[in-house]
Amino acid sequence: MAVPFRRTSKHTKRLRRTHFKLNVTGLVTCPHCGAMIKSHHVCPQCGYYNGKQVLKDGHYMTKTEVKKMENEGKRSTRRKSKKEDSSSTENK
Ligand SMILES: [Zn+2]
Repeated sequence: MAVPFRRTSKHTKRLRRTHFKLNVTGLVTCPHCGAMIKSHHVCPQCGYYNGKQVLKDGHYMTKTEVKKMENEGKRSTRRKSKKEDSSSTENK
């Protein structure tokens, strides 16, 4: 059995091992809240996936809840557009 001429010191050993690191891969920033999340996973911070809210209070939303949310979003945009139209006519 080969025996090393000198024992590697703690210092040398530790210096060498400073480069032994694991790289974290597959992390992306959430487009909704900006938190670091796994790619292709629901954001645990805001509960959004693919631009839609999927989680509510830590649970997956049912289809009816999702439809309600979508309808509320449509209503709010319609109201805003009507207000904008009325304000633009008043100014003229
Ligand atoms: Zn998020």
